[in-house]
Amino acid sequence: MRESYAVWSAPFHTADDLRRTAAACRACPGVVPGSAVVALPPGPRPLLFIGEAPGRFGAARTGVPFLGDSAGTRFERLLAAAGLCREGAAITNAVLCLPLDARGRNRRPRPSEVRACATHLAAAIALTRPRLVVALGTVALSALSAVEPHGLALSRDAGRPSTWAGRWLFPLYHPSARAAFHRPLTQQVADWTALGEFVRALEPSEKMR
Ligand code: SF4
Repeated sequence: MRESYAVWSAPFHTADDLRRTAAACRACPGVVPGSAVVALPPGPRPLLFIGEAPGRFGAARTGVPFLGDSAGTRFERLLAAAGLCREGAAITNAVLCLPLDARGRNRRPRPSEVRACATHLAAAIALTRPRLVVALGTVALSALSAVEPHGLALSRDAGRPSTWAGRWLFPLYHPSARAAFHRPLTQQVADWTALGEFVRALEPSEKMR
């Protein structure tokens, strides 16, 4: 594990530390100031999902990633298809603040925002100490590479686990409507089913539900 990973994680002892720091952070001029969403559980979780960024109708409104908007509904359906539940996992985003375009609509986070928030993502991983990290989409996968390089590509590696930073990394397509243009829904369901099977195949001490 690179030294920088440990250094980035060092200032945060609890999820509340991370929440306070992120709430005060103004490193990205293009996001809504003070809109950071940190909804990590207080202790470790064996499974950590990484999304893209809060959505204006989802986490930015409810305070919980993948809750309240259409991506959240699809996330919960795919989670159920995998035989997993939200309660057994932690969920966070690659970029913690709400990125909006000039018309106030959700937009994809910029690479500079992903790089700026990598310190917070590293801290979320260090606090959660997951055995398995699930990257939901290309933004999440590239954000994890900023924490620790992995060389994975979503189009090639979706739906199967790789070792990364002393744990497992499992890339999946983001549960948004636009992902269906790149990965048919039937294939996404198969990817999530593979995730569930992988989770259940882990040693008993690593079980996640
Ligand atoms: S997205 Fe992350 S780095 Fe950027 S302002 Fe928000 S908390 Fe800070």
